Amino acid sequence: MANAFWCMVEDDRKGTPKKVMAEVIGEATRLAGGDVEAVWLTDTATDDGIRQLGEWGAKKVWLIEGAELAPYRAEVWVPIVAELVAAQSPKAILGPVTSRQREFMARLAARLGVGLAGDCMGLAMDGDKLVGTRPVYAGKLLAKVAWAKTPWLATLRPNVFKPADAQPGQTAAVERPSVQIPAAQLKLVERREEASTGLPELTEAEIVISGGRGMKGPENYVILEELGGIIGAAVGASRAAVDAGWRPHRFQIGQTGRTISPKLYLGFGVSGAIQHLAGMRTSKVIVAVNKDPEAPIFKIADYGIVADLFEVVPQLTQEFKRLLEK
Ligand SMILES: Cc1cc2nc3c(=O)[nH]c(=O)nc-3n(C[C@H](O)[C@H](O)[C@H](O)COP(=O)(O)OP(=O)(O)OC[C@H]3O[C@@H](n4cnc5c(N)ncnc54)[C@H](O)[C@@H]3O)c2cc1C
Repeated sequence: MANAFWCMVEDDRKGTPKKVMAEVIGEATRLAGGDVEAVWLTDTATDDGIRQLGEWGAKKVWLIEGAELAPYRAEVWVPIVAELVAAQSPKAILGPVTSRQREFMARLAARLGVGLAGDCMGLAMDGDKLVGTRPVYAGKLLAKVAWAKTPWLATLRPNVFKPADAQPGQTAAVERPSVQIPAAQLKLVERREEASTGLPELTEAEIVISGGRGMKGPENYVILEELGGIIGAAVGASRAAVDAGWRPHRFQIGQTGRTISPKLYLGFGVSGAIQHLAGMRTSKVIVAVNKDPEAPIFKIADYGIVADLFEVVPQLTQEFKRLLEK
């Protein structure tokens, strides 16, 4: 439908839309007044996944299913969605900020010849125009942007927009459009599955613990993981820790890593360089533990502890354990 706001579905690759889709669909519903449709490219759609999208508020799910769609390849996905856009003329296309959607939406914008506002922290209708608010200069400024033509493309920073309340029993119509699935240009040579830490994913977590160079070595992250296990937190790292090979890059928070916006950020041995802040400064509550009282992170922290993290972390772990066992 020409007035529809589309939401690109990000899933867990096992047939379940990620929690962040509740935020994307919730925001699309507020902006579009209910004219919201989900677009799901997958090799593993499940009835539960479709039901979930409907309960969050999608009126329709454009379902494009096929073994060729996984793993994600931009050269396969982009022409499919571009073809669907040409046939349906949606007004806007929104997606969450994830590694996949970052690339996909940028390429789709280029293919359609329209603008993309990446990493939006606010969206609002101004008359019949959409206005996005997004960080520039590593988060030092917020810029308001508008689009010259439709569809308006935007990616939404996770944990910033209010998630839709699921309405049990509310369903979405499923439409399977006939589209050309292009042949993949890239061949999958080897697939490696990262071993799960058992902790929540960085961009989805409500609590994130970050360990910096002050952790002194990879072996010490176990104390952060123990704390994370107790309070249900994801464990990330600064670039210094990633560059030192202590943590894989997927755990890096910051300008050249993940953007997070959890309810609670706990930084241990992180100095607070501008590039790190770019990825976490919108966290609701920021707690920093650092030996150096002059560390820049204290300038944006809500709570700061000037102390040795190797003393503080075990104490916090014990205290949370005690409180949560009550
Ligand atoms: C183009 C570009 C992109 C970048 N992108 C990113 C990015 O995405 N993410 C990112 O994080 N950085 C990024 N950086 C790097 C960034 O500039 C910093 O170098 C990096 O963030 C520093 O990491 P750190 O805070 O862990 O280390 P440091 O700056 O070395 O800080 C370590 C801190 O640990 C404290 N400490 C030491 N021991 C203890 C202890 N026992 N207890 C408590 N505190 C202790 C120290 O006082 C110090 O403040 C980027 C840089 C560039 C140029």
